[in-house]
Amino acid sequence: MFKTKAAVLYEPNKPLMIEILDQEEPKHGEVRIKTSVAGICASDLHYMKAELNIDKPVVLGHEGAGIVETVGPGVQNFKPGDRVITAFISGCSNCTYCLSGFVNLCTTSAALGTKQYDGTLRLKNGSQSIHQMQKLGLFSEYLICPQQSLYKIPDEVPLDVAGLIGCAVSTGIGGILNSKGAKPGIDVVIFGLGGVGLSTVMGAKLLNCNKIIAVDIKDHKLEFATKFGATHTINSSKTDVVEEIMHITHDGADMTFDTFGNSQVTNDAIKTTKRRGTTVVIGLAPVGESVNVDMVDICRNQKTLEGSFYSSISPHESFRQIIGHYLKGEIDIRALIERTYKLEQINEAFEDLSEGQDGRGIIIFPN
Ligand SMILES: [Zn+2]
Ligand SMILES: [Zn+2]
Repeated sequence: MFKTKAAVLYEPNKPLMIEILDQEEPKHGEVRIKTSVAGICASDLHYMKAELNIDKPVVLGHEGAGIVETVGPGVQNFKPGDRVITAFISGCSNCTYCLSGFVNLCTTSAALGTKQYDGTLRLKNGSQSIHQMQKLGLFSEYLICPQQSLYKIPDEVPLDVAGLIGCAVSTGIGGILNSKGAKPGIDVVIFGLGGVGLSTVMGAKLLNCNKIIAVDIKDHKLEFATKFGATHTINSSKTDVVEEIMHITHDGADMTFDTFGNSQVTNDAIKTTKRRGTTVVIGLAPVGESVNVDMVDICRNQKTLEGSFYSSISPHESFRQIIGHYLKGEIDIRALIERTYKLEQINEAFEDLSEGQDGRGIIIFPN
């Protein structure tokens, strides 16, 4: 049996356990990749803290890149040695959303959750089956996933940069560029400066926005955001954020983004959106979180509240566009990477994320 070292979540609010797991061979349409890089994302942390539900035991990790190791029967577009980004929504290719190009909204993938498209699992610890987050589970030296999860990258794109494109960078840049109200010259506010928030700032700069106002509760994160294009920064723990944004923009911003996923933040984002403007919720809130919206404000001021999931378009199309910007030197994705860890340091990596350190942490696997 093929073996892989992986970090497993058995119970919420307990450390991830490093284990050697058995891995089956890839089945029809599946690929084994050797993981090169895995990003440490707040979505993983939601599952670790039981703020979102997932089948357990599970190998988390949904942002990363690697190298194709083995291809299963029926796989035509990949061969061993290909360098790939993993998409955390692979798409079934058959549902109405996949067939209309919105692979990020695939209903079959969502219904199957951690299982592969034949409804089964590929990992075991002894007799116990282990789930893979989003059919990936990148906190493992090797993983098996559907071929649709993979996007081949050119040699000029380093694997650490590619890894971040798999979640944070696509979610943030796509969250602004693919939203309806996005156009050059607008004023925007970005609430929350984690990997997704910083990527949204990057997207705002790419779009040539006018005022790019970054909001967070940590001064060092605000300072860090200026590297990516923030023109104004506000520490919302020290000042009345709504008043401050109104002061900077006079009448509110054309677009506001909650990249954190919190009812208070979304409400502040709606309040600071100008007439006919749009508030976009990009950050994933804990399950059950809801917002009380001032309906008079929404109606009289013709405000729009919309959601953006995984760049709002097909991840493959999002990856293609972002790689294009990267290769032209328009975005510095590597500047997001502040910390690197070994797989064995994964619990420390999540502690650093919880403490709100700057930029992205990534796990680098040995070659
Ligand atoms: Zn993520
Ligand atoms: Zn589908």
